[in-house]
Amino acid sequence: MLRIYNTLTEKKEDFIPIHENKVGIYACGMTVYDKPHIGHARKEVAIDLIVSYLKYCGYEVNYVRNFTDVDDKIIARANERKIGFTELSEENIDAFYKAMDALGLQRPDVEPKATEHIAEIIGMIEKLIANGFAYPTNDGSVYFAVEKFKGYGKLSNRKIDELLAGTRFEPEAGKRNPLDFALWKSSKPDEPKWSSPWGEGRPGWHIECSAMSTKYLGETFDIHAGGRDLIFPHHENEIAQAECATGKPFVKYWVHNGFLTVEGEKMSKSLHNFITVDDALLQYHPEVLRYFMLSTHYRTPIDFSMASLKETEKKINYFYQTLKTLAQFASKAEKEPAVNAKAEEFIKEFRESMDDDFNSARVVAAFVGIFKHLNEVLVSKKTRPSPEECAGFAKVIKESGAVLGVLLKDPDTIMNEIREIQLKRYGIAKADIESLIEKRNAFRKEKNFESADKMRDELLAKGVSIQDTPNGTEWNFN
Ligand SMILES: [Zn+2]
Repeated sequence: MLRIYNTLTEKKEDFIPIHENKVGIYACGMTVYDKPHIGHARKEVAIDLIVSYLKYCGYEVNYVRNFTDVDDKIIARANERKIGFTELSEENIDAFYKAMDALGLQRPDVEPKATEHIAEIIGMIEKLIANGFAYPTNDGSVYFAVEKFKGYGKLSNRKIDELLAGTRFEPEAGKRNPLDFALWKSSKPDEPKWSSPWGEGRPGWHIECSAMSTKYLGETFDIHAGGRDLIFPHHENEIAQAECATGKPFVKYWVHNGFLTVEGEKMSKSLHNFITVDDALLQYHPEVLRYFMLSTHYRTPIDFSMASLKETEKKINYFYQTLKTLAQFASKAEKEPAVNAKAEEFIKEFRESMDDDFNSARVVAAFVGIFKHLNEVLVSKKTRPSPEECAGFAKVIKESGAVLGVLLKDPDTIMNEIREIQLKRYGIAKADIESLIEKRNAFRKEKNFESADKMRDELLAKGVSIQDTPNGTEWNFN
């Protein structure tokens, strides 16, 4: 039985979808004023995992993720660069796709954009005014009247009185209460604008998600996801808007992923620790980045560092090396794959971990365990499982890997890709390494060990370690 931690009740709950065998999931997408950074990658990897596991459980999933393609930051950035806001948002949507495709993440079924849903947004605001939860101002803006909604604060566990006490009243024309938030903003000159019953303007940020999620998933749907930072005020406001417009509960399960820090600090441009997905992928293979993100449970904070990516890279290489060996033995199978007790135990652990609020960190630990076991048993004829059993191991690893989006590639291909990235990262050419190894081996043949060792030390200084094997000298980056 799948259990999901629900931010609304602050408990893990049995997952029972509203419609049998179907799941509607909405995830707040990116505000596209810049390129995606590794914090975005963390969130997208988490939601991809959730959607994949729901599909693995047999649910028919409708996955909706929006793009916020008009807002203050987008307008400001477009003005800075002297380009249109649409040009900027499209450029960043392309960058987003490029990064997320590189990570191998699935695309949602529906990807609504705010600017393409102005009619739905206006429709919802009209309902809110008609129901007495919103009011227009003289300047042509519309606000949500927070105090009218008794359920306000239920997601973030805040009370209206406490919120009021903590707010400084920043007077905005026609706003009645400091907590009220804009549903529609009258446009200033030179801002993007659409016509509305209240004059020309543009939607506030929060309303787009209520309008678009209910359009594609219904007035009440199963799962709403996003980063922890969105709980208040964004998701609190989404609930207020949707529930006051429809009179129905908005979302059954609220799911939030934890923060990402970089070496203990919040990521920010001013701290110069801002890492885009592109930056990370220049140095490490996408599967390394993805596996790194999955090594932590999605609700737990992740502390990112290049050093931990390096550790993950070693692990991924070791896994694929093992998979390559495993495939060689499995290729001798004459019958169907056989899942032995150890493989059965692994896949059981995988399902139990994922049923426990999508605990990919536990799955990652199970991977470490099964690969350790394989390396122990594959080395000798006496302990080696039969070819059919080897195929069984490959099968369960593939089955679980498919949910996490890892360990599915051809081992030689990915190990070569990783090596190419390493060569760039270490700033050394393959030919230079090979020539140093040749020289070293020539010295060794002449029994000139002193010079041979010098060559080896030179390689070590460049980050390359060598190993003499029956197949010749092999090298690896440290
Ligand atoms: Zn949203």
